[in-house]
Amino acid sequence: MFVNFISDIANRPNNFISYFMMTFYSNEFKKPIVISRKNNIRRLSLKVCRITGKITINAPKFLAESEIYKFYSLNRSWIHNQINQCLVPKIVKEGLFIPVEGNLYEIVVKKSCSKIKFLGNNQICIPKNISNIGKEIQTFLIEYCKSVMIPIISKKSNLIRQKIKKISFKDTKSRWGSCSSTGSIMLNWRLIMVPPSVYNYVIIHELAHLVHMNHGPLFWKLVQELSPNYSKDKEWLKKNSQEIRRYIFKT
Ligand SMILES: [Zn+2]
Repeated sequence: MFVNFISDIANRPNNFISYFMMTFYSNEFKKPIVISRKNNIRRLSLKVCRITGKITINAPKFLAESEIYKFYSLNRSWIHNQINQCLVPKIVKEGLFIPVEGNLYEIVVKKSCSKIKFLGNNQICIPKNISNIGKEIQTFLIEYCKSVMIPIISKKSNLIRQKIKKISFKDTKSRWGSCSSTGSIMLNWRLIMVPPSVYNYVIIHELAHLVHMNHGPLFWKLVQELSPNYSKDKEWLKKNSQEIRRYIFKT
């Protein structure tokens, strides 16, 4: 049973073991297994993260562990299949092509380059003495993202006569942006990798929440007014979000 895995993680200090959220390590898949028990879950379900391969089993709150294990065992070949389809992470380093505003740029190291910058021929050049290329490219992209997106946010917020209190840029796992009722906007800086029409849609989506704090018909009507082709951009993001999150900047 899962208890067999407990010894693997019990020796590691920071692992979280409680009844409602248990983390095991699967020796078979060489991946973590999380068992999440919640009140509102009626039946067992299984999920494999396409990027990390992490296996999550969602279970009703008080279901016997033997039932969960039976479910897991029955689905082992499906899990194998899913793990085989996991996207291989792309480590950001010299020679890698990385998308910026929807165009691919090659990362090149040049002696003549004194600081990281875009070159005309779809390259990003890096000085020779930089040791952690991924981290430096990340800092460069975050700064570039801010320089591109902050003016768009202020322009569009003026358009809908809304005041922005704070803009922050993060690398959130599941969201591309968020908006609080107090006027704080958060955007995922990875949006600088996607085509401009797509990041413009995300910005408009979050700003529209300043007017309508829901996803009701009036909200979508406002999004449509500000971004007439938004459904195409929304679809693009849904299709490509895992690809954008494949890039690993810090190793
Ligand atoms: Zn929303």
